[in-house]
Amino acid sequence: MAIRDARDLAPGEELTADICIIGAGPAGIVLGLELARTGIEVVVLEGGGEERSDESQDLYRGENIGEDYFELDLTRVRQFGGSTNHWEGYCRPLDREDFDRPPAADLEGWPFSRSELIDHYREASRLCEIDDSLELSGEHWASRVGAGLIDMEPTTVRSEVLFRSPPTNFARRYGPELAEADSVSIYLHANVVELTWEQDRVSSVRIAHFNGATQTITASKFVLAVGGLEVPRLLLVSPGPHGNGIGNQHDQVGRYFMEHPHLITPHLVTHDLDQFSFYTEETVIENTRLIGILTLSPELRSARAIGNATAVLQTASNFGQRWSDADPLGKGVRSLVGGLNDLTSPEQELLNVRFITEQVPNARSRVVLSSHHDPFGLPRIALDWQLHPIDYHTIRKAVETVGTQLANAGLGRLNAPTHGGLLPYRILGGNHHMGTTRLSEDPTRGVVDASLRVHGVENLYIASSSVFPTGGWANPTLTILALTLRLADHLKESSG
Ligand SMILES: Cc1cc2nc3c(=O)[nH]c(=O)nc-3n(C[C@H](O)[C@H](O)[C@H](O)COP(=O)(O)OP(=O)(O)OC[C@H]3O[C@@H](n4cnc5c(N)ncnc54)[C@H](O)[C@@H]3O)c2cc1C
Repeated sequence: MAIRDARDLAPGEELTADICIIGAGPAGIVLGLELARTGIEVVVLEGGGEERSDESQDLYRGENIGEDYFELDLTRVRQFGGSTNHWEGYCRPLDREDFDRPPAADLEGWPFSRSELIDHYREASRLCEIDDSLELSGEHWASRVGAGLIDMEPTTVRSEVLFRSPPTNFARRYGPELAEADSVSIYLHANVVELTWEQDRVSSVRIAHFNGATQTITASKFVLAVGGLEVPRLLLVSPGPHGNGIGNQHDQVGRYFMEHPHLITPHLVTHDLDQFSFYTEETVIENTRLIGILTLSPELRSARAIGNATAVLQTASNFGQRWSDADPLGKGVRSLVGGLNDLTSPEQELLNVRFITEQVPNARSRVVLSSHHDPFGLPRIALDWQLHPIDYHTIRKAVETVGTQLANAGLGRLNAPTHGGLLPYRILGGNHHMGTTRLSEDPTRGVVDASLRVHGVENLYIASSSVFPTGGWANPTLTILALTLRLADHLKESSG
């Protein structure tokens, strides 16, 4: 069926389907495609249109009341295809240890191992148009192109790779196929504003338009696929049986928000940038783009009791700048590396090192409803991003370890401000919104069970990074898609 515009529906009109998917970013689109193969009647409700619009994007505005963070309407895209209209395409599965290790003594991690997701990860890789071998070893890929690797102690720091999708725009790449499926109806400009509760289940959802009209969609099952910040919002604005949000009987909805704290430090390298080329320049092998990275070994992480982390090297020119006297940050770098030679010497080059780290889940880091409202009268969100001392410890240890290894290998010196709050470098996020409806078999410690069904709600599921119980350091979309494919299998079986 073609893609339709919900604004053409008559006021008060009612639609029905077997399964209603809310949100058509990569998760919603892939779930729709999978279910289309079974003939189950599916309706997909997408709030945005085919093009970006200020009106739709404005609904994503909110407040930051915790750590400094991106404006909430700039860290995601409210349009058919979701944030893949704007993503960078970096893809990587979580590590095996991310699944196996609980984040804290009193908090469970993933209830299944990575091996359970392997086939789904492979399919997710094909959807992102990257190599589906899940081979992450730097040695494997460098040897295929005859590139050299940095010599490090493998029990400490390893050379691995990060894949890069073209980047696939999921609306453009898969929207037409979804639109052609007989059993799927896609409605754009369908802003879901409430999930309606009736006897242990969601009976329908209400969509609203800027002209005041509303419609109702009734289905046997509902799947929330509106992204990691909006999933908790939709649950919290829907009163449910206790009046404080659907699935929120234990005050868990919105808690455990996790990002991937990023820290960028400059690294001084002597002589020869060529020896870093596998890490600073993308390699293309059989249509797959990838880049070398340095990761902390599981042994080191376990011994130091720190989270997962990686270092991505970028030449200053790749990074869009060379440090110079005219650059205020360049002057800061000069004073911090005082004692080393003049940075403008022809024998010396600067690399930027981007550390991407794991944040442990903590209940104080959360999404709550704000006192400000959107044009539909719904409370906007307030993001209270809170880092834990372990997160700073992880960042410091990652910087120290990689710096020491580079120095030991005689490759240069890392400017490593590892004292106190790591000033003068700001900790940034990565536009990755995880953990706000975390997966836990215990309903008092999370919001969804292992099948991604909301605890205490018979027919409501979530396809999003909001369910991640831990997030490693890897960019989330490949894992979102693997989980979505796993959910599709579950829905096919239980609806068959
Ligand atoms: C600048 C940028 C760069 C990024 N780079 C990377 C990267 O390199 N690698 C990576 O893995 N990830 C990256 N990401 C993150 C990645 O884009 C997300 O992980 C991914 O898009 C999440 O998919 P999703 O389907 O869960 O949610 P989204 O993509 O957020 O899609 C949610 C959909 O729901 C719709 N929606 C929202 N609210 C409603 C409502 N009330 N009613 C109906 N529909 C609604 C939205 O319009 C949207 O289409 C990046 C993000 C940004 C912003």
